[in-house]
Amino acid sequence: MINLVDLQRQFQAIKEEVFREIEGVYDSGQYILGPKVVELETKIAEKIGVTDAVAVGNGTDALVMVLDALGIGAGDEVITSPFTFFASAEAISRVGATPVFADVDPSSFNLDPVKVEKAITEKTKAIIPVHIFGQPADMEEMNALAKKHALTVIEDACQAFGASYKGKRAGSLADVACFSFFPTKNLGTIGDGGIITTSNAELAAKLRKLRMHGTSKKYYHDSIGYNSRLDEIHAAILLVVLERIDEWNGMRQAFADQYGRELASLKGLSCPAVSKDRTHIYHLYCLQSEKRDECLHLLQANSIASGVYYPQCLHLQEVYKSLGYSKGDFPAAEKLSDTLFAVPMHPFLYKEEQEKIIQTLKLAFGGEAK
Ligand SMILES: *Cc1c(COP(=O)(O)O)cnc(C)c1O
Repeated sequence: MINLVDLQRQFQAIKEEVFREIEGVYDSGQYILGPKVVELETKIAEKIGVTDAVAVGNGTDALVMVLDALGIGAGDEVITSPFTFFASAEAISRVGATPVFADVDPSSFNLDPVKVEKAITEKTKAIIPVHIFGQPADMEEMNALAKKHALTVIEDACQAFGASYKGKRAGSLADVACFSFFPTKNLGTIGDGGIITTSNAELAAKLRKLRMHGTSKKYYHDSIGYNSRLDEIHAAILLVVLERIDEWNGMRQAFADQYGRELASLKGLSCPAVSKDRTHIYHLYCLQSEKRDECLHLLQANSIASGVYYPQCLHLQEVYKSLGYSKGDFPAAEKLSDTLFAVPMHPFLYKEEQEKIIQTLKLAFGGEAK
């Protein structure tokens, strides 16, 4: 089987170094918020180009704590994409606010700024653009809307570590950003983890307090917080991965280029489009076709894994029935749910494996040129 991602190959490639790091943490006696977490926060802030990075338990907590720290809650609205992983909206609901969806751009799959502006009301407090699959959203337009309507912009950069927009890294493109270190993310560990990046020192200080039971002085509490910290052992592992992330993202980009060269001309199949002013780090490589089911069957029959991201838009989720959306509200997002499919994409794919995937897809589309 050719896997969509291959975490075994990835972690095998750095096993000795990771084991040495784990042993170091084991022997140090410091397991929570120790020197490795500080080192990771410092290196990530520097790499991304912000003043502060606050490591937390996971990407979802990062979003929840940011919304909480901004004072967003009951009665407030936050606009996000209907075409993303559930957590982008779940975090909004978790703090008691209301998720409001706006349609996506059909070619980038990212939130459409024109649609966002139409969704702004007097209750809107923030916008959460998601850099879906690893390509940054239209951040200049989002920031302009935020300025005009006095809103905060929170990047959901969970799928986009290392991506850039007009020469700046994802994570430095708005007021604050959230990343996930879930194992399958480009910068991932062997468990859960997340980080928040910002150049707002006051917000960063609040978040440092929130992740630690609302305390800045041990056993004295001035707010209700969370227990959401990054374990020292994961910070140590992530430092090993961080050293390689640009190289690994580059390997993904080379595989994406090859897919594009071989598949872009096939009739009935579309490759992902990347805007000139940004880089895509291909957390997922998603093709689009009206003949998706046939493709998926053929891939399966040839022992090639594939995946559907995302089969159900968020505005149509059972849990959000009460928000009152219905099918047809966001045609671009709904079409993506019906036609997109991910094919294997990770730095440790073998050339022969990619060749087999390409040949199988050429067969599915009859090798017919557009
Ligand atoms: C993975 C992901 C999250 C949540 O991250 P966790 O670390 O799994 O909590 C949030 N938003 C998006 C877009 C994601 O892909």
